[in-house]
Amino acid sequence: MVELHILDGIPEAERGNGYGSCGLPQVLSSALKADIDPIDPTGSQAAAMIVRSKTDHPKHGFPIGPCDSCKVLTKHYGLDFLTDDGK
Ligand SMILES: [Zn+2]
Repeated sequence: MVELHILDGIPEAERGNGYGSCGLPQVLSSALKADIDPIDPTGSQAAAMIVRSKTDHPKHGFPIGPCDSCKVLTKHYGLDFLTDDGK
């Protein structure tokens, strides 16, 4: 992924539960390396939800804020994170 070097700079003890496997790094990487028309995600809006394999799980679809690792990406790209779980 394009921006993994940013995540590499996060000390292990400060990495979020979803370090590197959340949707945000995937989406940013796709935007930055789009073959035809790369997109600069700086200043974009972002949102996140918990996804469970069983959709009747009570936390499935629960809006959450960025994990500690994604907070670094959020700050780096000046993202407006729309969901927040208070953490
Ligand atoms: Zn994350």
